[in-house]
Order: sequence, then C-alpha cells, then structure tokens
Amino acid sequence: MSTETSALHFTVTAAARRVAPEQRKRLLADPGFGRIFTEHMVRIDWNRDRGWHDAELRGYAPLQLDPAVTVLHYAQAVFEGLKAFRQKDGGISVFRPQAHAARFRRSARRMALPELPESVFIEAIDRLMTIDGEWVPSAPEQSMYLRPFMFGSEVGLGVRPSAEVTFLLIGSPSGSYFPSGVKPVTVWLSEDFSRAAPGGTGEAKTGGNYAGGLLAQAQAAEQGCDQVVWVDSQEHRWVEEMGGMNLCFVFGSGRNARLLTPALTGTLLPGVTRDSLLQLAKDLGYAAEEGKISTGEWRTGCADGSLTEVFACGTAAVITPVGAVKSAHGSWSVSDGKPGDLTMRLRRSLVDLQRGVAPDPHGWLHPVAL
Ligand SMILES: *Cc1c(COP(=O)(O)O)cnc(C)c1O
Repeated sequence: MSTETSALHFTVTAAARRVAPEQRKRLLADPGFGRIFTEHMVRIDWNRDRGWHDAELRGYAPLQLDPAVTVLHYAQAVFEGLKAFRQKDGGISVFRPQAHAARFRRSARRMALPELPESVFIEAIDRLMTIDGEWVPSAPEQSMYLRPFMFGSEVGLGVRPSAEVTFLLIGSPSGSYFPSGVKPVTVWLSEDFSRAAPGGTGEAKTGGNYAGGLLAQAQAAEQGCDQVVWVDSQEHRWVEEMGGMNLCFVFGSGRNARLLTPALTGTLLPGVTRDSLLQLAKDLGYAAEEGKISTGEWRTGCADGSLTEVFACGTAAVITPVGAVKSAHGSWSVSDGKPGDLTMRLRRSLVDLQRGVAPDPHGWLHPVAL
C-alpha cells in the first residue's frame, strides 16, 4: 500500500506477524521504561543527491549495518524523546511534537546532519501511532514514549559529514517512572567531570553527551546518589542540569514562591518540559524566571531556608524532586527532603494537561487523527 500526504511518499507494509491482544495486554500491565516496543517503525533515508527519500512504515525489525558505517566510529547521531498520551475520550494526543521537531532540526544542524522537515517528523509520528495505537496504555502515569533518531549511515572510515543518513522512529509503551509514588532523589555534584563546554555540543540532543557522562553517573552511584548534577566547565560552580533532565529551584513559599531555572547558555539542553513548566508556573500566578544559581547559593539557600524546593524535569520522568545533595565538600538536604508543594502542584498541572483532563490553553496537544 502507498499513500501520499506530506511532500514525502510513504510505503506502508504492515508487520507479517502481529502480537495477540492478550499478549499485548500482559506486556502493557507492567511496561517499565524503554523495555518493550510496538510492532512497527518508520524509516526514512537521506543522501546528498536525493535528499530525504524512501519513507516507509514497516514492521519493527533489527537493522543490518556494515561494520564501517560512520556512526559506529564517529558518533554522528541525534535523537528526540517525546510522549503520546491516551486521552479521556479514548483518543491519542502527542505532547508538543512541533517543539521536539524544531529541536531535532537544531540538534541535526549542530552535528552536521540533514534537517528533517517538521511536517515529516510529525507525519512519521501520526503514522506510527495510527497503526500501533492499541499499544498506547491508558493507566494513569502511563504513556507511549516516542524515540525519533538519525545517524550517519555511509560506509567508510574517512572523517567527514556522512553523505548517507538514516532516520528511524520507534515507540515504547512506558509505565510510571515512580511505581510506588513520587520519590525524591539524592544528587551528586560532579566537580571534576564536565558534561559540556562553551562551543561544544551540550545544546544538541546527541548520544555522545550521554556517553561522556556515564563515568560521572557511576561515580554518583558509588557515592550512594541517584543522579549527577553538572556544573559549568569553567568556574565549576554554576549549576547547569541533572543527568538527562533540567533543574528548577523554588525560593519562598505559598503565593510568594518564585521559580528559577538555569538560563540557556549554550551548554545545557533546552528541555521542552522546562519550557512548559516556566509557562505553567506563570499561568498559576507564580514568578518564574531563567537565571544563574551557584552551588554555594544552593547550599546557603537551603541552610537559611530561602531555597525551599528543588526538582528536575524532563519528558521521561516529568518532575523528580531533589531531596538531598552530596559533593566532595559536604552534603545537605533540601528542606525536609520531601516533595515540595509547588513541585507537586506543577507536576499535577502538567500531567492533567497531557491527559486532556485539564484545559490546553497553549495548544500543546497534537491529536493523532486515527
Ligand atoms: C532530553 C534532555 C533533557 C530534557 O528535555 P525534555 O525536552 O524536557 O525531555 C534535559 N537534559 C538533557 C541532557 C536531555 O538530553
């Protein structure tokens, strides 16, 4: 079957063997995160002569790669992570796909990869969700995690932007990040490793940034911490982000609570959740701003009680409260170490909007036309 909607021509080949409904139900009962995948995927090829071509929706299957394919050696690759949610009325909506498509283009540009038009990015998601819609779970806190990615697929060991590129989109039903309730994490301030430097790739969603952070993550685990907090690479004191999530700080309490998140300096990842929460906090009547906060201010603010809540935010876990901080120079807790009021209020607002339970004044939900 072939169909035409965007500028690209999609070939559609349904998977030969389908998963039985009872088996799908069993898998969706406890999907975990990033462990199970739906039955189809989208693949689109690019090369220097033809541009984007051969778009296809087909069965999920392993790839066959030449050992000399460029991504395996020089890591020219970018990815996105976004979610589709089962709505109250049974439909499926994707949260801010336009914002993710735009960031995917910016990441690609930084990594010398071709930019996928935003309309094609969204059409790929619509097509995958239409054929695999039954895999979108409906339990509270469950969703469909969508992973679009692309990589240099030219064969050859020469160092240059790949003349051939492969785009793929896969879907992974995911459960609650916190199966037994939202639990604050303890973070490790990494002062000897750096995630990103000015002029580097910190702003791009690219796997290499994660590979470079794994050793610090292992060090955090050795210290009994759940996550690493990254600081700037020059003065080693300005807070940037946490693992794969952005950070937010709450000063004061009640109606006077004020939200602060580190400004986008070029070395942190511009999170869509971060951007959404800045807006939602303003919608709820709180002051919310981007700025600078040092590790020293974090520590003294907790000691004198002016800094009342800290949380991390990102697509996968939505909002994770930070309860305690450890570093080579000492440890401290954030308030009483429990999830803060504004933290939980923002979490609820965002989750309700994503599920279609609360209004969507900014048009962030993209309904999949089934
Ligand atoms: C993806 C990501 C985030 C969070 O971005 P969201 O769009 O909110 O999911 C934060 N930091 C890093 C390093 C990331 O890769």
